[in-house]
Amino acid sequence: MVGDGSVDVVIVGGGMAGVSVGYFLAESGMSVALVEAEPTLAFHTTGRSAAQYLENYGDDVVRRLTAAGRPFFAEPPEQFCDTELWSPRPMMRIGGPELVDHFRAEVTAARTLVPSTEFLDGATAVERHPAIRPELVAGAIYEPDAMDLDVAGLHQLFVRGLRHHGGAIHVSSPVVAAEPSGSGWRITAGDLVIDCGVVINASGAWADQVASMAGVEPIGLHALRRTAFVARVPDRFDPSTWPLTDFESPERGMEVYCKPESGGLLVSPADETPSDPCDARPEELDIAMAIDRINTWTTLDVRSVSSSWAGLRTFTANRSLVAGFAPDAPGFFWLAGQGGYGIQTAPGLGRAASALIQSGSLPADIADRGVTPEDLSADRPELSGDLIAGH
Ligand SMILES: Cc1cc2nc3c(=O)[nH]c(=O)nc-3n(C[C@H](O)[C@H](O)[C@H](O)COP(=O)(O)OP(=O)(O)OC[C@H]3O[C@@H](n4cnc5c(N)ncnc54)[C@H](O)[C@@H]3O)c2cc1C
Repeated sequence: MVGDGSVDVVIVGGGMAGVSVGYFLAESGMSVALVEAEPTLAFHTTGRSAAQYLENYGDDVVRRLTAAGRPFFAEPPEQFCDTELWSPRPMMRIGGPELVDHFRAEVTAARTLVPSTEFLDGATAVERHPAIRPELVAGAIYEPDAMDLDVAGLHQLFVRGLRHHGGAIHVSSPVVAAEPSGSGWRITAGDLVIDCGVVINASGAWADQVASMAGVEPIGLHALRRTAFVARVPDRFDPSTWPLTDFESPERGMEVYCKPESGGLLVSPADETPSDPCDARPEELDIAMAIDRINTWTTLDVRSVSSSWAGLRTFTANRSLVAGFAPDAPGFFWLAGQGGYGIQTAPGLGRAASALIQSGSLPADIADRGVTPEDLSADRPELSGDLIAGH
């Protein structure tokens, strides 16, 4: 087979992870080729998110990397972006009397990294979201500075910037072979054969499979299906200013969440069903369960849905992020385990990964937040094994 050239870095996967690290690498002068299996980019998880930015979500490393992206979201490079990437959408987690002490303790802990986090009493929570049944709510955790994100806008920004800086993007190019070659790798993707110094595995739910194909030890990722749909809101309500609201119980944790979306309400049962990597589809049962729960918690009286979808959120066992070289394969870089935070962390994590590849260290502002290369290393025993609880 004839080779298609040589680049510094080949990126496998054109979701948010792949295009974000590609953008930052190309911007700093590296030659980059991104290969995507599907005919369109962002077809899988990236195109199916709830588009939320939450600084109180995930472990401390996730929270610090999310916050490290705040300046980028607030002032994206104008050259590649002509819209606002975010708009205010506070977040509220509500529960009954049994959860009040727990919520108060979480607020105290959350304030270390996100000082604006507040505890709300039940009446105030209902004022913020008037469809909630007041008798079920005794308190809430409130994150006033959470945001709605423009996922397509962010993805497109990274694509434009990557191309502007000379990067190449090849769709319909599934990686079918990855072999060590000289001091780097030879990647076969569709009809292309590309030599590179570093290969980045940003293939989302497929990341363990891609590693196995390359002869690299998998890290034991868990792909979990999550369902969402849009429901109509009765005319007596204007949901446009409602917060993203999680409804929680001591028995089930997060039971269901909702947020305003295109004049209606995006609803998710917060399901986490283990799945093989695939084009995930919603199950009727999960939608029915979410309708039942949202009608229990609110007076919305949801009866039908206008659109529904599902996507795979892919976690390591301890739900932490991975951005680091494989211990068993020089030049093979993992960018995986973005779980439910791959959009909000993309500006911070993409920049961190680019720096780790080029210098082995993190950008100063991210290091100053207390994140270390070891926090993101692919060589941590806690990455594999049984999945810890979370949401
Ligand atoms: C319902 C739902 C709600 C969510 N809400 C949020 C939210 O509010 N905020 C947030 O930050 N995150 C959220 N997420 C999570 C977020 O969407 C993901 O973390 C993120 O999209 C992961 O991006 P990725 O690039 O790793 O994966 P993907 O977008 O899946 O991209 C991986 C790509 O790799 C490609 N690929 C696979 N194998 C190969 C191969 N052999 N060769 C070439 N290409 C290959 C795939 O085709 C795919 O395009 C949500 C997810 C879901 C499902």
